Amino acid sequence: MNFTSVMKCPVCKKTPPNSPVILDCTHVLCESCALQILANSSAVWRVSKDSFKIGECPQCKTLFIEPAMLHMSGRKQLRSPDLDLWRELFTPIKNNH
Ligand SMILES: [Zn+2]
Ligand SMILES: [Zn+2]
Repeated sequence: MNFTSVMKCPVCKKTPPNSPVILDCTHVLCESCALQILANSSAVWRVSKDSFKIGECPQCKTLFIEPAMLHMSGRKQLRSPDLDLWRELFTPIKNNH
């Protein structure tokens, strides 16, 4: 079974998503839709000399950055900031109660 065939992009409702990427929260959407979210975002994460737009998962509001998007096609991530630091700081949204 091709499991991308049962997935639906929460942004454009395309099934399956176009060039699907998996976010840290395990939700799947089109690469282009994820990039659109980042482009519309004003939040930025700075690490050393790099800075990355921060987007919000349309389904669960978990924050994500472009280099943390995992391509289902097996394509390599674009850049590698300190993803461990990113995950510790921003994902998942911590609930201390
Ligand atoms: Zn989409
Ligand atoms: Zn999510």
